[in-house]
Amino acid sequence: MASLLDKLNPEQLAAVTLPAEPALILAGAGSGKTRVLTTRLAWLLQTGQVTQSGVLAVTFTNKAAKEMLTRLSAMLPINTRGMWIGTFHGLCNRFLRAHHREAALPQTFQILDTSDQLAAIKRLLKALNVDDEKYPPRELQHFINGNKEAGYRAHAVEAWDDYTRKRVELYAEYDAQCQREGVVDFPELLLRSYELLERNEPIRRHYQSRFRHVLVDEFQDTNRLQYLWLKLLAGHATASPAAVFAVGDDDQSIYGFRGAEVGNMRDFEREFKVPRVIRLEQNYRSHGNILDAANAIIANNSKRLGKNLWTDQGSGEPIRVYEAVADLDEARWIVEEIQQLVRDGASRSDIALLYRSNAQSRVLEHQLFSLGISYRVYGGLRFFERQEIKHALAYLRLIANPDDDTAFARVVNFPTRGIGARSLEQLQDASRVYNTSLYATVSHLSGKPAQAVGAFVRLIEEMRHATTGLPLPEVVDHVLDVSGLRTHYKAEREGEERLANLDELINAAAYFVHEDGAPPAEGEEVLAGDPLSRFLSHASLEAGDHQADAGQDAIQLMTVHAAKGLEFDMVFLSGLEDGLFPHENSITSLEGLEEERRLMYVAVTRARQRLYLSLAQSRMLHGQTRYAMKSRFFTEIPEELLKWLTPRVQQGFGAVHTPTRNYDGDNHATSRLNTPRQNGRDLGGFYVGQAVRHGRFGSGVIVSAEGSGADARVQVNFGSGVGIKLLALSVAKLEAE
Ligand code: ATP
Ligand code: MG
Repeated sequence: MASLLDKLNPEQLAAVTLPAEPALILAGAGSGKTRVLTTRLAWLLQTGQVTQSGVLAVTFTNKAAKEMLTRLSAMLPINTRGMWIGTFHGLCNRFLRAHHREAALPQTFQILDTSDQLAAIKRLLKALNVDDEKYPPRELQHFINGNKEAGYRAHAVEAWDDYTRKRVELYAEYDAQCQREGVVDFPELLLRSYELLERNEPIRRHYQSRFRHVLVDEFQDTNRLQYLWLKLLAGHATASPAAVFAVGDDDQSIYGFRGAEVGNMRDFEREFKVPRVIRLEQNYRSHGNILDAANAIIANNSKRLGKNLWTDQGSGEPIRVYEAVADLDEARWIVEEIQQLVRDGASRSDIALLYRSNAQSRVLEHQLFSLGISYRVYGGLRFFERQEIKHALAYLRLIANPDDDTAFARVVNFPTRGIGARSLEQLQDASRVYNTSLYATVSHLSGKPAQAVGAFVRLIEEMRHATTGLPLPEVVDHVLDVSGLRTHYKAEREGEERLANLDELINAAAYFVHEDGAPPAEGEEVLAGDPLSRFLSHASLEAGDHQADAGQDAIQLMTVHAAKGLEFDMVFLSGLEDGLFPHENSITSLEGLEEERRLMYVAVTRARQRLYLSLAQSRMLHGQTRYAMKSRFFTEIPEELLKWLTPRVQQGFGAVHTPTRNYDGDNHATSRLNTPRQNGRDLGGFYVGQAVRHGRFGSGVIVSAEGSGADARVQVNFGSGVGIKLLALSVAKLEAE
């Protein structure tokens, strides 16, 4: 046992070995919260204070949950299969599958991911003839999810005006539609579990007496409903509640926009009567310079619970900063730097590439891909969200549950089988009249629509028949053939990658069966349902961990949100521009800005040894070129911690950093940026990135160019007073500075 505990500092040791009482560990990034939580779990099991079936541990991402299972089995010789360790969604899914009857769900209920949900809402609006300009589907989705996450069903939402009343009505209609179709969206997984626990005393008692220890990582990001669920599950109000062990960091609360409440920490402390909040102050993750930068950034926030963090690791290297002219140059530079690191012996999986928004990954991926560097994207466009995969899954879902109208609508005419919009409309209308699913309604139709759609229904019936009893990968294979998906993508011009992904789905199924089929630990139950349904819910919940290059030594790409709780030797944080990070939607309010700052704190504290910050003066995003100033977060980091790899030219509007021609610094990638001609454009000797002077506007820097020769026009950023101006070179009389 000593070996379990001897790598802990005294505060950590005290936390790990607390008696079975409510506990809150409040500590900064990298101070060992997750390690303490996992070690406590191992210690409780090893000392026989609890059995494997008596604990429940919840984390925020699938990656973190897997990591916890791996660490646990490394510490103890146990079979962790069947243990209740997972994400909130994963655990609730499991709970509802085990009690689907009591939860009023079909055993094969399917999970709608965010885009499925949006499609279902659009379908509903259409069916009800609701103007989707007046009630935009996305906004309605937000309204529904926000209410669910706060624990409110439609009937409980207060509406003071007609607009809200209508939205509440649509919320109720949407829930009815989901119920009819046997599908459940993400927040519904939680709300339904919560309601079932609340309503059904035998089930509640069973779980309350079963789970003696409940451990929660990243507690600061729980939303209201998750908190209420935990409270109920832990039997807070009963005579013998479970011991809840929560760890968190208020400075890393980054889901406020999704309803997470730091207030849960205060409520927990009060309602559970936590005897003493434990603080951990030593950071074991990052070198001093990185930690100093993180501390300096977060010090700008106002409402903090207050923590100190120190390290004895020494300052380490400075934080490297690179300012590129355009996003493509930034991506090129990052990838060149990565190649250099790998040549110097770094392992790819120790390198993370982080960004604020998913859309930023495209240019980075492109660059990595074209140089043949293997990479994996976490939590971005997940494997299971790709169009071809969703089509294949829709067929599988119809086999499992023919009443799933979202799946039906997705593939009834994909690949095309000549089913016209008219026929589908008639089917939808009839389905409303008979109050049956689209699939079941087909038998009520007659005439031409009945023929076309009838053939589709027969196809699904045949598929179900032919695949009954087959191993899962063969089921998938069969469906890919018989549905016509393979033939369809073979004929498509750029269908190769899609075909490869479809094959990868067979691999994913095989991998799933392998994991799913491992013998459960003694006394542990296996997730209820048939393998196909289990696989489908896995597909809805899984954060893309089985991409084509799973298992390879690959660069890790993810948003800062997805990087929470993780650590890497080397971290590149890209796109540090005002408007992007901090995000433009958040900078108008103090609260929004503080949340962005916490996100920045999370990003910086992912790095162990080396941190790179980069930005681009112009960037293509959502089809538009945008120009930006460097992120205001730069001003919050003490200058002496930074090492600019691009030189800084003092402009009229303060510190704007631009690459210049004569730079002889240590960066090998800079020179390419300094060619006076951009893409062969003739700009009369000017170039993008150049410092220039204008008679009226003063000093600025050229941030982009279009046209050539006499038609050449440039955008010049003249700084905060004047802003960006588009100028025709033939007219503007610019001078080089
Ligand atoms: P975050 O807030 O980012 O989730 P955390 O507080 O959960 O961070 P951990 O991930 O548990 O921190 O720990 C950070 C790193 O420090 C890990 O690599 C962990 O193994 C290491 N570490 C933690 N405690 C110790 C210790 N006492 N001795 C050596 N290394 C430690
Ligand atoms: Mg952690």
